[in-house]
Amino acid sequence: MHPSVQRDADKRYADRHPDKIRAKNRRFMTKYRKEHPEARTESIWRKKKRIFDLLGGKCYSCGESDWRCLQIDHVNGGGNQQKKRLHSANEKYYNFILKELQFGSKNYQLLCANCNWKKFYENNEISTKHMATILKVMSG
Ligand SMILES: [Zn+2]
Repeated sequence: MHPSVQRDADKRYADRHPDKIRAKNRRFMTKYRKEHPEARTESIWRKKKRIFDLLGGKCYSCGESDWRCLQIDHVNGGGNQQKKRLHSANEKYYNFILKELQFGSKNYQLLCANCNWKKFYENNEISTKHMATILKVMSG
């Protein structure tokens, strides 16, 4: 059979049996994940690296460029809520950010862990209920 004839036949089969195709894909992915447990980690970290590159590869505030302490910061806060909505820092979260950046979003920046924590305190992004107490203790 000519390859293009086979392709058309495959396409007709897929159109008629979307459920079977989905099940087949699911079986393939389950098997693939079992055989390549590192694949998901690699995929996530590749996305994270692309985001880091797009955001300049260093802390927006102090210039730290050691990737081990860089974090993706949502410029106007809301990173945590967004993360919760997308079920923690998983692949979907990085896909979402990557897409936003590719469409020219200015909502993200890189901050090192130190600058990110300072921003949390300065913007009251930490439990505001006890902030006065924390500041009293730490500045006393
Ligand atoms: Zn910094």
